[in-house]
Amino acid sequence: MCMMNHHYEELEESYLFAGIADRIRRYSAAHPQQRILRLGIGDVSQPLTESVIQALHEAVDDQAVKKTFHGYMPECGSEDLRKTIAAYYRKKGCNIGEQEVFVSSGASDELGDILHLFDRSIPVLLSQPAYPAYADANIMDGRKIIYLWAEEGNGFRVFPPKEEMTSLIYICSPNNPTGAVYEKELLQAWVDYAIRTDSIILFDAAYEAYIADEDIPHSIFELRGAKDCAIEICSLSKTAGFTGTRCGYTVIPEKLTREGMNLNTMWIRNRTTRTNGVSYILQKGAEAVFSEKGQKEVKNLIGIYRHNAKIFMRALDEAGLWYIGGRNAPYIWVRCPNGMSSWDYFDFLLEKAQIVGTPGSGFGPAGEGYIRFSMFADAKDIEEAGSRIIQMELK
Ligand code: PLP
Repeated sequence: MCMMNHHYEELEESYLFAGIADRIRRYSAAHPQQRILRLGIGDVSQPLTESVIQALHEAVDDQAVKKTFHGYMPECGSEDLRKTIAAYYRKKGCNIGEQEVFVSSGASDELGDILHLFDRSIPVLLSQPAYPAYADANIMDGRKIIYLWAEEGNGFRVFPPKEEMTSLIYICSPNNPTGAVYEKELLQAWVDYAIRTDSIILFDAAYEAYIADEDIPHSIFELRGAKDCAIEICSLSKTAGFTGTRCGYTVIPEKLTREGMNLNTMWIRNRTTRTNGVSYILQKGAEAVFSEKGQKEVKNLIGIYRHNAKIFMRALDEAGLWYIGGRNAPYIWVRCPNGMSSWDYFDFLLEKAQIVGTPGSGFGPAGEGYIRFSMFADAKDIEEAGSRIIQMELK
């Protein structure tokens, strides 16, 4: 008999985006003249920047000429890109060497693949609400998940638990969906906890480029002792608009060991066995992101989404709605007014103001009663959505 991985049967059916699409379809069919403002999806709306496009074109041309043609790339990433990313970390004050950087096809791939390094008996500590891939990747693996509840009282961040246990700890800062950020002291508390308990932190830094406040760490490696207990997973998706282009990076310190096994060495073995690397063309495009011109362009790009957030936060303030996020993240997490549930408020907004958000309950039960708005939407839509919310709330 071909035995299957029955842990897949434990996955909850995700109705979130299908549910949203279905409601929009029905509403549009009934009201074809209404313009719907979509602030739901966490995908970028701005195109790749000039430097990236130029580098991609040049790399395509390289592939047309025997002298500059590249076949298989090194599985862990091109030397140039690894060096460039390590230098980017050093600028942030993190002592990262190129051998500690692994170029990837994006954060989602790595967040699940990295689990291969760990025994399935190790539990996972996961804050709620959360980016759904963390839980699902671990459920597929049959790992036990211990949820830590993030809520208004703790600023939608979680603190190390009283119980000292060896675990895999996911931390996402700036956070999707809440936009909350972990300040230095709190991250240090997690690093200290991980060292004390022999745990490993999987730090998701996908939104690090959105941090505006100076005292918020961009990388877990800004913290004392992190190289003894953490892996960082990052991506150019939200930094440079690579959601459809695909390139990211993972940092595994060379000194990181558990049970006498070196995680950096294990990951080299994993990548050289299970991948054939990221394409030459994409890595050239990624390299351009880190050039002086590329960094300026990325700043401008993020500035567009940041401006969106400012406009929308102003509207929420005027409407008197409670929210978190927006300042250091492209997401704004709003408490549904009048005790409405996430889906009730979703329906209400669609029906009364033709605004689409993402129901917070779709990110786990701790998200019930909240809704997430994405600042990746078009500036005009954000402005219009803000005005409609003000009008509705002040009526
Ligand atoms: N991590 C978080 C917190 C995200 O929100 C996302 C995408 O939305 C990802 C990772 C995935 O990024 P990538 O496009 O690099 O797979």
